[in-house]
Amino acid sequence: MTISGHMLLGAEEVMGTSAQINAINPATGEKMAPDFGGGTQADVDKACNKAAKAFSSFRRLSNEKRAAFIDSCADNIMELGDELVERVMAETGLPQPRVVGERGRTVGQLKLFAQLIRDGNYLGARIDTAMPDREPLPRLDHRMQYIPLGPVAVFGASNFPLAFSVAGGDTAAAFAAGCPVIVKAHSSHPGTSELVGRALQKAVADHGLDEGVFSLVFGSGREVGSALVSHPAIKAVGFTGSEGGGTALMKLAAARPEPIPVYAEMSSINPVFLLPDALATRGAEIGSNLVASMMMGAGQFCTSPGLVIAMAGDGYDDFVASARDSIAEAAPQTMLSPTIHEAYQKGVEHLSSMSQLSQLSQGKEAQGCQCRAALFEVSASDFISNEDLREEVFGSCSLVVRCDNAEQMITVLNSLRGQLTGAIHATDAEDPELVDGLIEALELKVGRIIWNGFGTGVEVCHAMVHGGPYPATADGRSTSVGTAAIDRYMRPVCYQNMPNKYLPKSVDEENSLGIFRLVNGEVVTN
Ligand code: NAP
Repeated sequence: MTISGHMLLGAEEVMGTSAQINAINPATGEKMAPDFGGGTQADVDKACNKAAKAFSSFRRLSNEKRAAFIDSCADNIMELGDELVERVMAETGLPQPRVVGERGRTVGQLKLFAQLIRDGNYLGARIDTAMPDREPLPRLDHRMQYIPLGPVAVFGASNFPLAFSVAGGDTAAAFAAGCPVIVKAHSSHPGTSELVGRALQKAVADHGLDEGVFSLVFGSGREVGSALVSHPAIKAVGFTGSEGGGTALMKLAAARPEPIPVYAEMSSINPVFLLPDALATRGAEIGSNLVASMMMGAGQFCTSPGLVIAMAGDGYDDFVASARDSIAEAAPQTMLSPTIHEAYQKGVEHLSSMSQLSQLSQGKEAQGCQCRAALFEVSASDFISNEDLREEVFGSCSLVVRCDNAEQMITVLNSLRGQLTGAIHATDAEDPELVDGLIEALELKVGRIIWNGFGTGVEVCHAMVHGGPYPATADGRSTSVGTAAIDRYMRPVCYQNMPNKYLPKSVDEENSLGIFRLVNGEVVTN
């Protein structure tokens, strides 16, 4: 398939005129062809108006037809074959196994959402039947189901060019809910975005859907992205990126005449707690496993372990020595873009310049956009008194906080902002009071608590929570990974005293969809 540089406004191909965007191969520094044109306000208006028109028919499509469309999106992505894999590798510097794995995750999550809506239970049907003889007042019949919000704006992520970009988790969840999607492509992988965008555009046409179900725009976040979030047709936003970008969009969305929800996944340093007996019995093993996790994808994962809180004592030195050796041996990896590499370098330089920190280890000499891993150490008291140390350094960089007692561990945890994950490394011999205290405190800080593991490698499943209090995400009440993400793009509607023939199928008398329903407080399937 030829990559042309055009935006996809429904079925139309439009060359943007506001700016020229080119991908840069981070491994070579070369500017890649073709030129992509950035969109204008008029392009955004066109995509949004098309999406608003498409919403009326897309939301009323049967679950089966919408599921079949989502399955085709997945199949069309696979049909792009090696061309897609090679373009992703060139635009992001990611190695082939990672790209192939991420493509598998992307089509897998599309298929999982298709499966979710086929059984209809996602509609959350509830029925409270009428009680005409109730005293002192009769009760009327009430029935509730969830409906889609409307067109959703999705911002493609730099660090997941497939699984969190054009056809990523946000798009899959929005389509499954019945929402048309307009994607603002990430400017660092426009070719990947166009290829995947065309796969989605083809699925829309093949299924005879309204063209406005999907659009893809290019351009700067501050112009095209802001215009999208401000457009009255847009009813929700999905975003993965920096705290600054996500927070700016939250403010923009809240200031609209009709404020809308922004589901932004932003900054997280994912604390890892190393308890005394775990360190004493397997400190060295934990050290090498930590480094494997922080080196994964050059640390460019939102779940990368950026903070380790360890109890000084037996095994601490083994842990440090093993982590140091593992970092020294690991080969540097190319980062996603020159901008991200530059931000990483600045972050590490800042930590190196702080007198309270000592650098425990440094990766092998790196070149160009490669990430030179770094591991620092600080005392608990210095960490607690220095707010700068809670900031994410996006890449293979981690800070070990050395604690002298359990109280310090809890104080460090309580000083953190919201996080996506928190991990506890422990054995059966740990002080149960400390373990309970950590779990209790972690529940209030993170979206996922991990036992004897690390946050990297997020499973796409029904029970996954990839969320957490701000600034990990804009709204800790939801998840961006797993099927529960569909809830972000839906809202409940109650039908009071409606005749059966006008009720949606999910809550009709016959249970036409054959789904689980909460009827008078009991889950039933009839
Ligand atoms: P980013 O700068 O936040 O950009 C993400 C998207 O948002 C891009 O499309 C960007 O548009 C747009 N955008 C940024 N600021 C905006 C604003 N004020 N208004 C409207 N749109 C805006 O993130 P990035 O490029 O992926 O990476 C930059 C840094 O973000 C990294 O170094 C890292 O620190 C952090 N990051 C964190 C995670 C995580 O999961 N925790 C993931 C990725 C990145 P443009 O095309 O104009 O840039």
